[in-house]
Amino acid sequence: MTNGHRDPADVHRADVHRPVASGGPAGRDTGWRESAACRSEDPELFFPLSSEGAGTAQAERAKAVCARCPVVSQCAAAAMTVGEAHGIWGGMDERERRHLSRAAVGRTAANRSCLPSGVVRAAEQDVRSAAIRLPGSATWLDRADPSGISGPLVAEVWVFDPVGHRALLVDHPWRGLVPPGGKAEPGETPRRAAVRELFEETGLSVVLMHRPAMAFVRRFREDSSATTLGFSYAAFADPAIPLCCEPGQPAAWFDLSRPWAARFPKDRQRMRWFLDLLLRTR
Ligand code: SF4
Repeated sequence: MTNGHRDPADVHRADVHRPVASGGPAGRDTGWRESAACRSEDPELFFPLSSEGAGTAQAERAKAVCARCPVVSQCAAAAMTVGEAHGIWGGMDERERRHLSRAAVGRTAANRSCLPSGVVRAAEQDVRSAAIRLPGSATWLDRADPSGISGPLVAEVWVFDPVGHRALLVDHPWRGLVPPGGKAEPGETPRRAAVRELFEETGLSVVLMHRPAMAFVRRFREDSSATTLGFSYAAFADPAIPLCCEPGQPAAWFDLSRPWAARFPKDRQRMRWFLDLLLRTR
């Protein structure tokens, strides 16, 4: 495949597999390429003919490599800075990068008024570096029409025990068993909101893993069409630490190998997948 000027696969090979080469998504600091997860992969994998149709499976395989890449955030930022037109970089295909770029430079006044710029930048960064991005999360901030957007971001924490057998869940009055979390306060970044909500709901104070586990767009209420951008962060905590729960909202540790009643049942598999990633790379 060629774009008329250069073979993108060669660019990928040069830029990521040989970190200091010129061209491609560069940026001032190129040292991150040394840690790229794709250095041992076939560069062709990252250049599907399309991110839709027949190319979907290949794009997903490439994005799975990015999902376990420790420099996904730097890669995505570099690709967007130079406007990489082809290929999977930073876990995003060209369409997803275009959406995020537009969000950065052309967000509507209506959306800007909903969220302070510092919060938007933090959210964009976390969308870019999330290990799992559910459909719509890369483009939510870019929506020109704010109708249907419920405004506040939401954030939760996937708290695992150190050996990775259990997760901490809160029995929410109308959402059932969910990871501790809630809405961000005005001006609060999702990451800060996650730490605060966890403390308020369980009494636990943790250091979040640097990389967000998941970015998602969800409709939380059956009686509303409004969707909200949310983030799942991850942390480890000792189950022996006594919990201090909010009234009417008990929290407890649950075995990750057994399903629990949840509004979003696939999240248990996502938690296990991300936990496995954490345990393999820590
Ligand atoms: S994010 Fe993906 S493309 Fe970028 S360096 Fe990591 S594995 Fe390679």
